[in-house]
Amino acid sequence: MTDLNALGFNTRAIHAGQEPDPVTGAVVGGIVQSSTFAQDGIGQLRNGYEYGRGTNPTRDSLQAQLAAVEHGKHAFSFSSGLAAEDSLIRAVLRPGDHIVLGNDAYGGSYRLISRVLGPWGIEHSAVDMAATEQVAAAATEKTKLFWVETPSNPMMNITDIAALAKLAHAQGALLLVDNTFASPYLQNPLDLGADIVVHSTTKYIGGHSDVIGGAVVVRDDELAEKIGFVQFAVGAVSGPMDAFLTTRGLKTLGVRMDRHSTNAQRLAEWLQGRAGVERVLYPGLEDHPGHELAKRQMKAFGGMISVQFDGGAAAARKVAESTSLFTLAESLGGIESLMNYPSEMTHASVKGTELAVPENLIRLSVGIEDVDDLIADLDAALGKL
Ligand SMILES: *Cc1c(COP(=O)(O)O)cnc(C)c1O
Repeated sequence: MTDLNALGFNTRAIHAGQEPDPVTGAVVGGIVQSSTFAQDGIGQLRNGYEYGRGTNPTRDSLQAQLAAVEHGKHAFSFSSGLAAEDSLIRAVLRPGDHIVLGNDAYGGSYRLISRVLGPWGIEHSAVDMAATEQVAAAATEKTKLFWVETPSNPMMNITDIAALAKLAHAQGALLLVDNTFASPYLQNPLDLGADIVVHSTTKYIGGHSDVIGGAVVVRDDELAEKIGFVQFAVGAVSGPMDAFLTTRGLKTLGVRMDRHSTNAQRLAEWLQGRAGVERVLYPGLEDHPGHELAKRQMKAFGGMISVQFDGGAAAARKVAESTSLFTLAESLGGIESLMNYPSEMTHASVKGTELAVPENLIRLSVGIEDVDDLIADLDAALGKL
């Protein structure tokens, strides 16, 4: 086949790892729902397939597609975003090693690092990753990993990936970017100097709120070998059906992200200056502190908006419970619009910690419905304040 890396994003998303089935010619590869594979003689495998925890054709097809869209060389698919993060940390860190992570990291990532891996000897400091001096001050000779989300969840802070990569490398550490919010269509951290990209493919990559999954993407062969070993030895892999659904979602990521981004821009501009709204956090707004940086680093500004209300927690909760098209639910990145009250929902696990989220904030995952309908839905909800 032609060199995929020379092709555009959508072509790669649709074709990488997606050759027609060599036996039947099926244009869409099958879901190989088999735990094991026949051997022609002892140790004589057909095309390397032996046992489903190690390798599976449906998962391989997704992994090839993920590597291609993230401009990586190796991708690994897991049963969830957190399973991907857990296996990645086990692969690259040892007890006594230290992580510097954002003080607005995804609550589940923070819980994994502090409460599961902490007792096993992985240390961490949570700082503002956009403040270079804070990051440099937190790093010690034990620091082996810098961990950043940009845009961050739910504060929508933007961090300069290239600058952070330089800082991490000067400290002898690796830079990991959780690229879930931007998706590989809007931002490719490996091109900006990051060493590792992780995704909750549950979100924009899957895109239809019907599958849980996670991924790790790297270029370095040595890193890949370590991650591949843990993927096989721990076994937190995605099953064939989940891998298939994720592949199907990823094929349309580009067209979905374009619509998520234009809808979110319209909604963010509409929300700004509305009675009762204290602040709209969206990198596509010119007054967002990360606007210029986001313009350089991202193709568009994405589908996530956070809104803070003058009326405190009561106002935020009222709006969260008053919409009809925006569904009150955790998660994000699906075609349907969702609304979340982070301090009691997605980020309840960090309440009272250094990562706590403002109580007057709601987070919108703007879907790809007709934007005028979404505006009318929010207008009605704000009218109840
Ligand atoms: C959801 C999410 C995760 C965790 O992924 P799961 O698939 O839920 O395990 C990690 N990081 C970010 C930014 C997320 O939004």
